[in-house]
Amino acid sequence: MIKANNPKTQSWLDVPEGSDFPIQNIPFGIFKAKRQSPRVCTRIGDHVIDLAKVNDLGYFADLEIPKAVFRNDFLNDFMALGKTKTRAVRDRISELFNKRSRKWNAREMSEHILYDIEEVEMLLPIEVRDYTDFYSSMEHAKNVGAMFRDPKNALLPNWKHLPVGYHGRASSIVISGTPIHRPKGQSKPKDATKPVFGPSKLLDFELEMAFVVGKSTELGETVSTAQAEDYIFGMVLFNDWSARDIQAWEYVPLGPFLGKSFASTISPWVVTLDAMDPFRVKGPKQSPKVLSYLEYEGEKNYDLNLSVEIQPEEGKSKTVCKSNFKYMYWNMCQQLAHHTINGCNLNVGDMCASGTISGKNKNSFGSMLEITWRGANPVSMPDGSERKFINDGDTVILKGWCEKNGVRIGFGEASGKVLPAK
Ligand code: CA
Repeated sequence: MIKANNPKTQSWLDVPEGSDFPIQNIPFGIFKAKRQSPRVCTRIGDHVIDLAKVNDLGYFADLEIPKAVFRNDFLNDFMALGKTKTRAVRDRISELFNKRSRKWNAREMSEHILYDIEEVEMLLPIEVRDYTDFYSSMEHAKNVGAMFRDPKNALLPNWKHLPVGYHGRASSIVISGTPIHRPKGQSKPKDATKPVFGPSKLLDFELEMAFVVGKSTELGETVSTAQAEDYIFGMVLFNDWSARDIQAWEYVPLGPFLGKSFASTISPWVVTLDAMDPFRVKGPKQSPKVLSYLEYEGEKNYDLNLSVEIQPEEGKSKTVCKSNFKYMYWNMCQQLAHHTINGCNLNVGDMCASGTISGKNKNSFGSMLEITWRGANPVSMPDGSERKFINDGDTVILKGWCEKNGVRIGFGEASGKVLPAK
């Protein structure tokens, strides 16, 4: 067992009941306090812990990590230390904040290294090098295939043989809390003979998780499904905002472009794959049998609850989706093995999103496109209004958490408010 995951450990820091961040989580992020430069941090309960200061005080001295790794705008250099070191840091934090620990000087700690989550700004944790978006939930692919093409042949012939993906846009990945302007673009209304230009009328979210690459490869090198976990540092919530009207007109023959590239929202805390280890589950049976480079052993899916809420500008919010990451047909190890099988090199900071995660039931569909079946069955909001897609002024909030044996490992949230087109 990974030491820091011990379910019995309790922290001397208070952790509110139902918190996503017990001492077993120890995620990593980048924060900025008043008049301070950005730094690497972790979180226990609602306490943000300045890891640059913990390092300055000598608590990581034996791990020999350069100061600059923690006084940093991004986690990339920290992840690049490799899992032996980052795992040791996580174990050490667990030890320092354990109720039974004798390693710390409480005054030193509380005066210099702890901040309340409300008094700091969380920043984009990763300098995202490249962003790949997969399409790995069978239910989602079937729903979209049925709507856009043919319900009888909803999955294209390649779908069960390889994890379909495309190259997304890294520059527009933003941190939770960043407002999103409704994109403008071309679309072709039904029965129109010519395209029109204007703000998207069908703005949607996509409920996804993304994994962050923490180890690079050389051009020409491949990563097997067995090696893949060594390359995956951790995960974040990922809202892959999508303008369905722009997407539908532009996507043939090369795939999505401006209908997706205007923004994607991620959560601020990178939860390590290590922290998720206790929540492994088997994936769905893959039939037909996959080619040998996509075969894998062990439990590579995770029982990770997901939800989406729409919060209107005024009035109560509504949960429109409850899904689970375990529904994924293709797991992350297969995605990474497929990504590199042609020799494409990986960089530390690459981000790979899962694709929209839909379950079998209507209440588990991961986009408004599916929930309302392209607007045919609108969602009614608590204030009596209806939503076919996302309105200006709406905030979309993604949440994710694993829970078992009294331990809850959560991701916090990825939220973004939609502003009118610029
Ligand atoms: Ca997507």
